[in-house]
Amino acid sequence: MSIFRPMNILLASNNLHKREEFSRMLSGHTLVVPSELGLHFDFEEDKATFTENALGKALALFEQAPKGFVVLADDSGLCVDALGGGPGVRTARYGMETFGRQLESAERNQFLLENLNHLQSPSERGAQFVCALALVVDTHRIFTLCESVKGSIATTSFGKGGFGYDPVFIVTEAGKTMAELSEEEKDRYSHRGCATRHLITLLGEIA
Ligand code: IMP
Repeated sequence: MSIFRPMNILLASNNLHKREEFSRMLSGHTLVVPSELGLHFDFEEDKATFTENALGKALALFEQAPKGFVVLADDSGLCVDALGGGPGVRTARYGMETFGRQLESAERNQFLLENLNHLQSPSERGAQFVCALALVVDTHRIFTLCESVKGSIATTSFGKGGFGYDPVFIVTEAGKTMAELSEEEKDRYSHRGCATRHLITLLGEIA
C-alpha cells in the first residue's frame, strides 16, 4: 500500500485555468506556477506531438526549478476528424494563418464552427481532446503520458463553465459540452482528468 506524501509541484504553464484544474485534482500536493516563484517561463510549442511539447516545457522549466520541486507540464489540443486530426498541436494558434493574429477563445470557437458548417451529423463532427503530461522528478526520472477523451464538435456554443474550446466540445459519454459539466464532472470525463489519474498513481510510486 502506498502512503500519500505531499509533493511540491511546479506547473510549467501560465494558463490559470489549467492551474485551477490541477489544483483541484492534485489536492494535498502544493502546486505553484512559475510567476509565483518569481520565474519567467516561455516555451515555443513547435514540436510534432503533444508529448514532445509537454516534455520540452517540463525540461526547460526544470533547469530553473528550485530544489525540492518536481516539474509538471501539460500540452493539450483538439483533434477534429474532419480536419484530418487538426488543429492538433496547433490548437492554441488555430485561425492565425487566416486572421494574421492570435484569436481569442470565442473567436477560435466561432471559426471552428464555421469551418464545420457543412457537416451536420455528430458522426461527421467527431473529435478528440488530447492531454499529454510530462513529469520531471530529477535528471534520471522523467515520465510522460498521454490521454484523450472522445467527443464531437457542437453546432453552436453551449454552457458557461470551463475555458477554451469547452463550449464547443461535446463529451460523448456525458452527452454535454465540457462547458456544461460541473467541475467535478469535467475532472471525471476530461482528457486532463484521465491523464491526471495516471499521474496521481505515478506520484504515489515515486514518492
Ligand atoms: P496548450 O496546451 O496550452 O498549448 O493549449 C492548447 C489549446 O487548447 C489552447 O487554446 C487551450 O485554450 C485549449 N485547451 C487546452 N485544454 C483545454 C480544455 O480543457 N478545455 C478547452 N480548451 C482547452
